[in-house]
Amino acid sequence: SGRRAGRSSPRKSREASKASRLNFYEEDLHKGALVWHRGDGQEEWLKHAYLGDAGSDGCRLRAAGGDEVTVPKSSVCSCNPDFLEGTSDLTNLTYLNEPSVLHNVRLRYDRDEIYTRAGNVLIAVNPFKKLPIYSAEDAQRYESGSSEGPHIFEVAQRAYGDLFDTGKSQSVVISGESGSGKTENTKFVLRAILQTNPILEAFGNAKTLRNRNSSRFGKLINIYFDSPTQISGANIYTYLLEKSRVVNVQKQERSYHIFYQLCKGCSNEERQRYSLSDASEFDYLNQSECFDIDGTDDGRDFAEVKAAFQTFGFDATTQDRIFRLLSGILHLGNVEFFEEDTEGGLQSKIRNAKPLQTAARLLDVDERLLERVLTSRIIRARNEQMTKSMDANQALSARDTLAKHAYAALFEWLVKSMNSFIGKKKKEGRSYRNINLLDIYGFECFKINSFEQLCINYANERLQQLFNQHLIELEQREYKSENLAWEQIPYSGNDDCLELLEGQRDSFISIIADEINIPQASDATLALKLKDQLTSHSSFVNNARDPMRFSIAHYPGRVEYDVNQFLDKNRDNLSADLVELFSSNENSLLCKLLESSPTMRDQNNQMKTGRRQSTLRQQSVAATFKGQLTSLIETLGETSVHYVRCIKPNSKQVPNNFKSDLVLDQLKCCGVFEVVQMARLGYPTKFSYEQFNEKYDFLLGSRSASASERDSKASCLAILKKFGIDPSQYQFGLTRLFLRAGALGKVEQLQKLF
Ligand code: ATP
Ligand code: MG
Repeated sequence: SGRRAGRSSPRKSREASKASRLNFYEEDLHKGALVWHRGDGQEEWLKHAYLGDAGSDGCRLRAAGGDEVTVPKSSVCSCNPDFLEGTSDLTNLTYLNEPSVLHNVRLRYDRDEIYTRAGNVLIAVNPFKKLPIYSAEDAQRYESGSSEGPHIFEVAQRAYGDLFDTGKSQSVVISGESGSGKTENTKFVLRAILQTNPILEAFGNAKTLRNRNSSRFGKLINIYFDSPTQISGANIYTYLLEKSRVVNVQKQERSYHIFYQLCKGCSNEERQRYSLSDASEFDYLNQSECFDIDGTDDGRDFAEVKAAFQTFGFDATTQDRIFRLLSGILHLGNVEFFEEDTEGGLQSKIRNAKPLQTAARLLDVDERLLERVLTSRIIRARNEQMTKSMDANQALSARDTLAKHAYAALFEWLVKSMNSFIGKKKKEGRSYRNINLLDIYGFECFKINSFEQLCINYANERLQQLFNQHLIELEQREYKSENLAWEQIPYSGNDDCLELLEGQRDSFISIIADEINIPQASDATLALKLKDQLTSHSSFVNNARDPMRFSIAHYPGRVEYDVNQFLDKNRDNLSADLVELFSSNENSLLCKLLESSPTMRDQNNQMKTGRRQSTLRQQSVAATFKGQLTSLIETLGETSVHYVRCIKPNSKQVPNNFKSDLVLDQLKCCGVFEVVQMARLGYPTKFSYEQFNEKYDFLLGSRSASASERDSKASCLAILKKFGIDPSQYQFGLTRLFLRAGALGKVEQLQKLF
């Protein structure tokens, strides 16, 4: 396992391991006590009354209105006292077992209280319906401090407040599965700070099986402040757009929204200019047989995108160039090939002249030149050039590569243009404070996982590492500054898995980066190398039955990957011919875009410096991604991070439907139990001495304590002692009283007796 031993005393470790298994306290299992139990094959845990022991670690229970059952003691978990039901912070719970945490989150969800705190982390369950909790007045209440329940506005406000209270930059990291609500919550945070824009969504989001409006890229929004009321600018960084979607869409999913918007929303004049017709006429779009999304009006959204273009200063000419490029890509997708057997091998030919002609016109490139690069390849060797024919498959692949690159370059360029519009205007000698908002794809595990999943899961490993460091170290730092007696607690890290993925040598990323530069390499040779060099690694799991498959033990669980297409997906190069094609026409937007894109620039330079094609250094997508992630983590590491963990309650995208197993998996996966357990070993409940006295001093029978008494530690101690709270359950810090999780529960229970 990837767990690391910490430097803690044996007593502490025993306590830690006890806490992590803790379903109940033995002394609390008395007759009549309520416990959770889930029978074999049952979906939900149900409350039972504990009746008594039944020998050999068994016990007797009775469900409400049910018969008596005898079950293993290990299958029961204590229920929390009634007054804690639906508590807004999970760390208040006396029992932090799975059914209790789940029950609490569910209870709140049923009451439309979708936000719950887990210490420093905000849990957000997707309601899949409009809730009346996001009005300007709601935001205002959090701003003024008159509302304090868990809420995304509260996180936004806290980040914003801390920015100016502490002078330290802040980040809000929003994570969760696809469809769990990351982007929506990001927009709510932004709304509290900045107007959002629909451009990114039109170009970077698509309908998938899991989310009608799924973001197919990661993004970090960086907002700079001059003063509390003065935003001086913002910057958007994007990560790993799913390019393959432009040419490959599986059934019931869609390509990027913008294509359908264009087909639906264009005026007749535009329709002619771009030779557009119904979306179903385009092969890139009709392959998935899905054109419309319930509740989405592509025509209306197109108008919104155009309006946003205006806002961002894209004039009519620029818009025209963007739409030409998009329609050019669609027409390119309709170009078909057939092959002829010739002396030089199979030679592909273009079957239908019309789409080629239209594509060339819209993309602003010479038709003959386009035809040539789609059907043959020029091989350069020293001073000679040879034309090598391509078969129909190779031609298709050249076509798709071009379409993918064109789209990705357009996306990059749009982001760049928006950034230069909203970008901070740097003033000399000024240091800028900023808030970062991260909305990045969550952990993915499908039946068949490919290169994209590996990159996404890698990103999540890095974020999880940061999460561990932040949440465990932050808390412990506070204990130290408050002078508490505290021994560092061990925590489970994911360093092993990260070493496997990104280590300097013999890691997934280093191997795949090398492999794309080996001429004879194939997915099969890559698979062999991975197995050869990584098998000894503890997080690598070999698949003995299938040479093309292997698994990785990620922090939320094992994921099996299929190596097919890894090599191609990891290469990010256009063929030298395509590079030349688009260097040939300076008026083409595509040419401009590709020229400014980093990969293209590199290749161009390599060609200009006269190196032969075979020596062109191949870009490794995974290695580039590693660089981006490293700088992302550095950026976040310099800030105070606020975590929001989004949870998807069901896979049908419907309201009022809570699937316990699905939610429990996500809660486990995103580290909520670790955080809450950390809170259990630590002292998550904190009061200033005055607060505590104010709240509980009536228990001493002296309701009219004077202000000075309220201040005193002595009076707090008297309250704690009177109610027999074990000294292990609290510590007196320099400025505050620190209570163990659950200690408050005991005080509250006793309080009820009064
Ligand atoms: P992906 O990783 O696929 O981009 P995501 O986590 O960004 O997924 P969202 O697009 O934010 O998911 O949410 C999916 C859908 O769930 C939204 O389109 C919206 O209908 C609904 N939703 C999410 N959060 C909320 C909310 N707080 N209130 C109402 N509806 C919501
Ligand atoms: Mg999203």
